[in-house]
Amino acid sequence: MTMCRICGEALDIDMESARLAGSMLGEGLLCDECRNDPPKFERAVSSAVYQDELREMIHLLKYERLGGVADALGDLLAASILSLQDEAARELIVVAVPLFPARQRQRGYNQSALLATAAISRLRESAPAWRLRPQHSLLERCRDTASQFELSAHRRKRNLQGAFRANAEAITPGCEVLLIDDIFTTGATARECARVLRRAGVGKVWVATLARAQTPQVALWEESRRNAVQGFT
Ligand SMILES: [Zn+2]
Repeated sequence: MTMCRICGEALDIDMESARLAGSMLGEGLLCDECRNDPPKFERAVSSAVYQDELREMIHLLKYERLGGVADALGDLLAASILSLQDEAARELIVVAVPLFPARQRQRGYNQSALLATAAISRLRESAPAWRLRPQHSLLERCRDTASQFELSAHRRKRNLQGAFRANAEAITPGCEVLLIDDIFTTGATARECARVLRRAGVGKVWVATLARAQTPQVALWEESRRNAVQGFT
């Protein structure tokens, strides 16, 4: 599968054309969105597509309060973070995408922070020279937002406006941040977090998520969601 160099979106292009275009451009290919509106993060990596067992595991982690599942998923997340090793700084500040405080109290934890902890402990063994320091307080969620899944694509961006705030006093200007989230759906959350962090002085933002929804899958969910809503009215 050919993927966007920045966000990892699957591109509808065969390998031969991709190789040709890639060698002409001297760099990887970009999806339409990254080309037209480049995100403020350097690159987003994911461990796997959001489906099958992984989807089940994430569901247990998020909705069944089985926080221990995060530990089992640490290896998977660590593997994708490891693919950033050659490009990212030797010292990275790890920030989990925050939950709104009331939501976190309800769940008892932030699943992305648990995933980050699990992955960091694996990386201490597999990449001991790499300094990954968690500092989740760099980012806070100041507004609760509807689940991104429940919104149409054009409303996702508006949904996140003003949802995150960076703790600028705690940021060393020019530092590099590794942002961790459970699922990369359309990238709207990663884009907004990266924008806020960069504006507060962060030099570069890297994004690692456990799972990634590919666009056709997102479109399917949107359709089933619409049908479900219509069913109620
Ligand atoms: Zn892209």
